[in-house]
Amino acid sequence: MSVLTGLVIAGLIGVLLDITEIPAGGAIGAFVGGLVAALLLYAGRGKTTIIGFLVGLFSFPVELTILMGVVTSNLYTPPQVPEIPWSVLLVALVATLLIQIMGGTIGGLLGGIIRHPSPGTEVPNPPPSPQCPEKYCIQCGAGLANGTSICHACGAKQPS
Ligand SMILES: [Zn+2]
Repeated sequence: MSVLTGLVIAGLIGVLLDITEIPAGGAIGAFVGGLVAALLLYAGRGKTTIIGFLVGLFSFPVELTILMGVVTSNLYTPPQVPEIPWSVLLVALVATLLIQIMGGTIGGLLGGIIRHPSPGTEVPNPPPSPQCPEKYCIQCGAGLANGTSICHACGAKQPS
């Protein structure tokens, strides 16, 4: 489901950027699509990367289909391109596909990272506070930080 949503978004953005003649529009579309799909999926990084890859892979035919639809309904006329040999066109198509897969995969990976920050980026060792005591006073039971020798509540000496 999230893949489908990502695909539609990737296709729409890709076509929109292509029409406005922004270079690598498809790749940007795939990237955003992969990112959105990953965010919707709410899964681990490995899974979202695969989802992003799929979005990137399939966003190309989806984008092409939308573009065809827009062109055939006369909403948009593509600029006249000079005769391009098939071999060049094929290379361009493969390159575009690879870039879109890359965009989608990076988007998916990024979505996974946003959803699941690595342990290193999480709040490092919160300072000891009464809400999260490391030990308790032997006399009054007040929460104390590790290494506290005198209880701040009752003044009792704590065993080390
Ligand atoms: Zn105490």
